[in-house]
Amino acid sequence: MHVYINGSLIPESEAKISVFDHGFLYGDGVFETMRAYNGTVFMIEEHIQRLFRSASLIGLDIKRDKDSIQSALYETISNNSLKDAYIRVTVSRGAGPVGLDPELCKEPTFIIIAEEFREYPESYYDNGIKTIIAETKRNIKEAINPQIKSLNFLNNILAKIEAKKKNAYEALMLNAEGCLAEGTISNLFFVLSQNEKAVLCTPSVDCGILDGITRNIVLELAKKHGIPAKEGRFKKEDIYRASEVFITNTTMEIMPVCKVDSVSYQVGSVTKLLHEAYKENVRAYLSKSYTSSQLP
Ligand code: PLP
Repeated sequence: MHVYINGSLIPESEAKISVFDHGFLYGDGVFETMRAYNGTVFMIEEHIQRLFRSASLIGLDIKRDKDSIQSALYETISNNSLKDAYIRVTVSRGAGPVGLDPELCKEPTFIIIAEEFREYPESYYDNGIKTIIAETKRNIKEAINPQIKSLNFLNNILAKIEAKKKNAYEALMLNAEGCLAEGTISNLFFVLSQNEKAVLCTPSVDCGILDGITRNIVLELAKKHGIPAKEGRFKKEDIYRASEVFITNTTMEIMPVCKVDSVSYQVGSVTKLLHEAYKENVRAYLSKSYTSSQLP
């Protein structure tokens, strides 16, 4: 595998950064995870835009423009002969003397790792995955805003450790006010019955969550398919009485949940309909976009 570091593609074994990199020393940096389908990076513009937003929220100048990032992404996947890929872009503050002052670092470190996409087991989609509601609360917006996709991921890792201890795949976090927020790497959706109609519910962005790109697509698809959706403030009791639960992210797409704590759920019709619609949406995107093989 070749890793893209600051403009060059370097063999994995030689791909190194400084021990003085502030991303390593302080978690000072931002990242994005993307997925390529058959050589096309899905929602590339939106991911790059969010990378810039995260960087701007921590006062980090990436020193690259959108087009050069786009070219670097395609260069990395084609150099590694990838079609279906997991892609991670990391931008850290860069190397500098020890100390918190960002101005100590003159150049950001810019890294792209792309590897073969490993499909999730079919059984996860067929039967759903187990989740718990973690004791660890989601960072409050006023401390580390969850809208910054930052290298400082300990909040999520602590919740993930709780999930693993309880044999669950994902941990759902509440915010400091006790409202449902999101998973460690995912957004959360569930279906509640209101006046005998299925309503798709998801925590609103102001609950302190990352406004996932997949989440936005799901909300658009719900609208298109006439499924009423509600973004709001929900408690864990709401999810316990839901008929369906699923989580979303770029790599999982729509992943059904079969358990939240001790409450069980079936993979329901809303989840199935939205996942089919999501896959169709990916196909439509691919048919409109260029692929790495069409690059000059
Ligand atoms: N929430 C968190 C904390 C995440 O880390 C992620 C993605 O990794 C998401 C939500 C989902 O975001 P997206 O759909 O843009 O991948």
